[in-house]
Amino acid sequence: MACYMQVLYFCIPFREQLLDYYENNKNVGDAEENLLTCLADLFSQISSQKKKTGVISPRRFVQRVKKQNELFRSYMHQDAHEFLNFLLNELVDILERETNAANASPEASSSSSSSSSSSSEKVANGPSNPPVNGVRKDPFVTWVHDSFQGILTNETRCLRCETVTARDETFFDLSLDIEQNSSITSCLKNFSSTETLNAEDKFFCDKCCSLQEAQKRMKIKKPPSILVIHLKRFKYIEHLGRNKKLSYRVVFPMELKLMNTVEDPDTEYSLFAVVVHIGTGPNHGHYVSLVKSHNHWLYFDDETVEMIDESTMHKYFGSSQEYSSNTEHGYILFYESLGRSS
Ligand SMILES: [Zn+2]
Repeated sequence: MACYMQVLYFCIPFREQLLDYYENNKNVGDAEENLLTCLADLFSQISSQKKKTGVISPRRFVQRVKKQNELFRSYMHQDAHEFLNFLLNELVDILERETNAANASPEASSSSSSSSSSSSEKVANGPSNPPVNGVRKDPFVTWVHDSFQGILTNETRCLRCETVTARDETFFDLSLDIEQNSSITSCLKNFSSTETLNAEDKFFCDKCCSLQEAQKRMKIKKPPSILVIHLKRFKYIEHLGRNKKLSYRVVFPMELKLMNTVEDPDTEYSLFAVVVHIGTGPNHGHYVSLVKSHNHWLYFDDETVEMIDESTMHKYFGSSQEYSSNTEHGYILFYESLGRSS
């Protein structure tokens, strides 16, 4: 999954946090080698090379990634979308284990007593989540979350009593269903379209204390700093009994405005990386990445890198005909938040 190393390196907030992590932990002698330390090592090597020359040589970058790739080899056959989720969750788990270990060590005992008083304070102010088995567990938030995590809210309106029930869920990426000749904006619109729950799919309304027809809508409550959009190009086709790749043309803009947010409709994003799947099917494919660096787009393919013109990005949108010789399709898109324009 070399394609991700370039993409993640160009996720600026993520890179900065990872380099901070490296600085704070490089002198810990007995640290075990894991995905996090390897990624931190890799990023630090690339960034120190940048200090020497002022620029990152993409070729050197690729060589470094290749060396580090031994570690990722066992995950190579995973789908790129699964791999990203695996990687981010693995980093969160490692950070959580380290924090727990630090809190359990004797010198941290004084600070842990203060943290327990602050958590009881939160309970006194009314917990948003009821305690489970009497133990309230705060969700563990790391700098991985700061970069990638957003919050979706699932609003369900009972059609009998009109009560709206909102349920929040966090995400590292949005998986969107795609249609032929569409765009990210229309896919996001479909993602947030109102769905009616009826017949066998009724909703249990707490107020009516019974199953009722309801309308459901998904909105983005907290847009993430880095918005990762996964296009569902692999679809299980029942009569084929296998996954098929959809080569649909889905236009992705360089600048994206999120419209399906709870508030702040002018959350703007700029595209800075694309993971491209090359090939006709899920089992015979190859990934490359397109990354924007210093206003130029770079095309990374395992051991090679070349500069491409932004005007050629449309080649990766997909094909408007089912059979096309072009099999390079944008699969996972990375947008960075430009902040709120309003
Ligand atoms: Zn109701």
